[in-house]
Amino acid sequence: MAAIAEGLKKLLFPRARCLNCNEPRKIDLGAPLCDECVIELDELRLLDHICPHCLSPKRHTEACGYCANGGMTGLAAAYSPYRYHGVSQELIVRLKFQGIYQAAEPLVEGMLSCFPGRPLDIMVPVPLHKSNYSKRGFNQSELLCQFLCAETGLPYQNALSKTIKTKRQSTLSHEKRHDNIKGAFSAVMPVEGLRILLVDDVRTSGSTARSCAAVLLKAGAKEVSLLTAVVAATYSEKSSS
Ligand SMILES: [Zn+2]
Ligand SMILES: [Zn+2]
Repeated sequence: MAAIAEGLKKLLFPRARCLNCNEPRKIDLGAPLCDECVIELDELRLLDHICPHCLSPKRHTEACGYCANGGMTGLAAAYSPYRYHGVSQELIVRLKFQGIYQAAEPLVEGMLSCFPGRPLDIMVPVPLHKSNYSKRGFNQSELLCQFLCAETGLPYQNALSKTIKTKRQSTLSHEKRHDNIKGAFSAVMPVEGLRILLVDDVRTSGSTARSCAAVLLKAGAKEVSLLTAVVAATYSEKSSS
């Protein structure tokens, strides 16, 4: 009888589950993450031992290898709340490959917490190639822009188009990423004189961001900086490990 009552309760009041650990949510039924995973996500914040310019992990005393290797070419600054690991990685996967929009919420909250104080005119999402767009049904970077726009009032425009279908960057070595993405983007709107915040979900080698920035600057943009939800392993992290 108790089992039937329990089953009926579950049917009538389905427990929402944490998007990371799949445990029943403990505080707010509308929340995407449970208490433990909120704490875990907070521990992934990019705070100490990072280059203030590009956010790559580095030791306090050493120069930033990523910046020294031209990692920030064309980019005025980079902003991101979290390392790509554990909870943040799971949220990206849920958002990008499972289309769970709610997974964007904690990421957007983080992005707002480090939203650039510099003067900006528009946000521009990193575009998907149209074949990937139709497969996925949405562009996760555009979705992040929509949330950010709603909160900050800074407008966004799809000023870039991805005209060449490239291999997935994550399947390639850092060395090959640049060649893979080179020439893949083009500007499809006037951006002359604009201070642009390029928005993407993940930054790894930065090849994608640099290619987009190069196209925008060539089209006359005044400045391009980068905001991503997460930063994955970079050159300097690789070389220090
Ligand atoms: Zn959880
Ligand atoms: Zn750096």
